[in-house]
Amino acid sequence: MKTTAQVVVIGGGVVGCSVLYHLTKKGWTDVLLIERDQLTSGSTWHAAGGFHTLNGDPNVAMLQSYTVGLYKELEEISGQSCGLHKSPGIMLADTPERMEFLKMTVARGRYLGMETSIISVAEAKEYFPFIEEKYFLGALLDPNEGHLDPSGTTHAYAKAARINGASIELSTRVTALEQTPDGTWIVRTDKGDVRAEHVVNCGGLWAREVGRMVGIELPVLAMEHMYLVTDDIPAVVEFNQRTGKEVGHLIDFGAESYLRQEGRGMVMGVYEKACVPWSPRETPWTFGQELLAPDLDRIAPSLEIAFRHFPALENAGIKRIINGPFTFAPDGNPLVGPVPGRTNFWSACGVMAGFSQGGGVGLALSNWMVDGDPGFDIWGMDVARYGDWATRSYTNAKVRENYARRFSIRFPNEELPAARPLQTTPLYDTFREQGAVMGDSWGMETPLWFAPQGERAEDIVSFRRSNDFPHVGAECRAVRDAVGVTEIANFAKYEITGPGAEAWLAQVMTNTMPRTGRLVLTPMLNHQGRIIGDFTIAKAAENRFMMWGSSQAQVYHMRWFDTVLPRDGSVRIEALGMRMIGLSIAGPRSRAVLERLTDDDVSNAAFRFMDYREMDIAGIRAKVNRISYTGDLGYEIWVAPEYQLRLYTAIMAAGEDQGIRNFGMRALLCLRLEKHFGTWYREFRPIYGPFEAGLERFVRLDKPDFIGRDAAARELAEGPKRRRVFMEVDATDADVLGDEPIWVDGKVVGWVTSGGFGHCVGQSLAQGYIPSELVRPGLALEIEILGERHAARLQDAPPFDPEGLRMRM
Ligand SMILES: Cc1cc2nc3c(=O)[nH]c(=O)nc-3n(C[C@H](O)[C@H](O)[C@H](O)COP(=O)(O)OP(=O)(O)OC[C@H]3O[C@@H](n4cnc5c(N)ncnc54)[C@H](O)[C@@H]3O)c2cc1C
Repeated sequence: MKTTAQVVVIGGGVVGCSVLYHLTKKGWTDVLLIERDQLTSGSTWHAAGGFHTLNGDPNVAMLQSYTVGLYKELEEISGQSCGLHKSPGIMLADTPERMEFLKMTVARGRYLGMETSIISVAEAKEYFPFIEEKYFLGALLDPNEGHLDPSGTTHAYAKAARINGASIELSTRVTALEQTPDGTWIVRTDKGDVRAEHVVNCGGLWAREVGRMVGIELPVLAMEHMYLVTDDIPAVVEFNQRTGKEVGHLIDFGAESYLRQEGRGMVMGVYEKACVPWSPRETPWTFGQELLAPDLDRIAPSLEIAFRHFPALENAGIKRIINGPFTFAPDGNPLVGPVPGRTNFWSACGVMAGFSQGGGVGLALSNWMVDGDPGFDIWGMDVARYGDWATRSYTNAKVRENYARRFSIRFPNEELPAARPLQTTPLYDTFREQGAVMGDSWGMETPLWFAPQGERAEDIVSFRRSNDFPHVGAECRAVRDAVGVTEIANFAKYEITGPGAEAWLAQVMTNTMPRTGRLVLTPMLNHQGRIIGDFTIAKAAENRFMMWGSSQAQVYHMRWFDTVLPRDGSVRIEALGMRMIGLSIAGPRSRAVLERLTDDDVSNAAFRFMDYREMDIAGIRAKVNRISYTGDLGYEIWVAPEYQLRLYTAIMAAGEDQGIRNFGMRALLCLRLEKHFGTWYREFRPIYGPFEAGLERFVRLDKPDFIGRDAAARELAEGPKRRRVFMEVDATDADVLGDEPIWVDGKVVGWVTSGGFGHCVGQSLAQGYIPSELVRPGLALEIEILGERHAARLQDAPPFDPEGLRMRM
């Protein structure tokens, strides 16, 4: 075995072999894969081998599309067959809601170039003849699905990697990982040590164990999964002979099942509600190429429905039942990228659909390792989307929920209950008593809206406007007409200190840093000039700054800051998490409320828009920003959690005669739409440049240097290829949600990033991106909402307070 390598990849499943292949393709050939047993010995060998391109996250769907397109190349390079069977895939809708879901899925696929379409049940039978039509309303057709040979495919990756110079060591177990002070990894194995610059965890079923070797607990859990292989079915043979085609792939949401042809019979797999985790604490090293005991009773309820839906299959004999484990992250997407807090330790774990996603994971990870950037927007798969709060029991609850809901619709206003409440603020019970409907924001409970007395504090799930609509509207109007209070604990907050703090922030952010007592808004770019963050920064004192960003991205951002912090200790950055939480008051009467809570002068002259102050509010030491995401006069008040209840009580008392009321996250998001404000993850993501995103005001190309400056200057010089645009939409009873296609002259030209109803301007609103050359006043657009195109018009100014006078009043 080699004793040194640039990269050691741990694990020879489909994912490890794909990572190995992609690293060699990028030119890194001093790479060694170490496999405990034989290639495929984890979950890979017993997979059903199905692949498809659809995914709820369009960016993950793109990587799935790449994977599916890769197999031909792999066969050519390796000379090894992947056993490809390309056959169309059908998803059947048995309820109106599922039909809407399919229409939305087709629409979302349009700007990705996906060829999916809606077809009738009768048409679906041309691909899958066994459907009992009366149970279904329609179907989605995806021509780019199929299945393959899991072992052949894994070996094809491995052979192609070897041809490119990679080494593979079988029957060798990595037993420990140690990092020397110079950063070199010592990879201890039962056959000796290997020194490596980088280590990649592709441990699949043992991903947790490999993670524990470096002191981390990855949020991954294996679930048992069963599929049946039937004996030959005469109707299958007859279909093959009559049409010259294989029976297509099929997903039946109602039966929680997937089906496809295998030989002259069928494969039927089930994601059952009564699902069972496997080895929840640790995976035994002795587990080899074994199967688990089948438990037909567990999947019987689903099979019963499936047999009703496809009666020709009911009497087929069962040749084999496969029950095998494979891993999931809490949201079902992989955990990819550099592991926060570790140097040159990479993750490619939790890949639950190795044959749809393995290629994309390998590509993104190898780009990241070689170029320093994944090359795509892989936020949905980034290992940094989870923090310490994603413990083993959280993961267990969420993975079971996700598995059981694999074929269930997630409505846009649907909050899932597992592992909740997890993180709460001191106001949680108070808000609940006041009718708050709570939402889960990456482990944190946040009020979404408040049900008035006599209303059920519960969402009726729907793709359309629902029961919250009038109440969110009333909350928005309360802010615009008087004053509202909302909790803003779910921001990330940072304190940056040290003699090098200002220079460092100026180097990392695109904007210039504020004077003491002032705030700035600033994007943050990567070296490629793409947006990786969007922050508010206050200069609190000499060598001390406060900063606010997206809470979902806190781990992601801290990982980035770690890589760009000076090593001489001149700058310290601390994520404050729940040690600082806040309330925001907003609306024209918010100053009147604040005045009653402090003896400081908070007049417009003394405490101006974009000012920052540390002051006493209701007797509590607070940090106050004169800024509001509502786009109105407003203040963000930040305190230690032990004071939050006192602060809230004081605000409510001071605002009583001003008409103060609670407003939730949904109202806040509607209000910001009326002001054309963007938001991290929707409008601002690593696929966009700052000029595309319309953030030019915050990008100071005239300052000496900052990360991404050259790329940003190039973007400006060449002209942004697309632009963030603002639209009013002739919506009826459903507003845009995000990811809908934008049509111009009968062609899809762009996509929606977010939207909703602007209650105070009486318009349905959307933001999105379209090619720059199309942007002109009066451009007629259409946006496809739930399968129907609605006229839309570009807005060149925010519909609420276009001059921004309210924020400055
Ligand atoms: C019943 C069933 C049906 C499935 N059907 C499909 C399907 O139709 N389509 C699809 O896309 N996916 C399917 N899957 C999922 C698919 O199997 C997984 O997505 C895929 O196998 C994940 O591959 P991996 O490389 O991440 O993990 P694994 O296959 O588990 O590979 C990890 C490898 O790492 C090795 N390893 C771990 N620790 C060490 C160590 N310390 N030292 C050395 N080596 C180590 C292991 O021996 C193992 O070979 C199915 C899974 C099951 C169980």
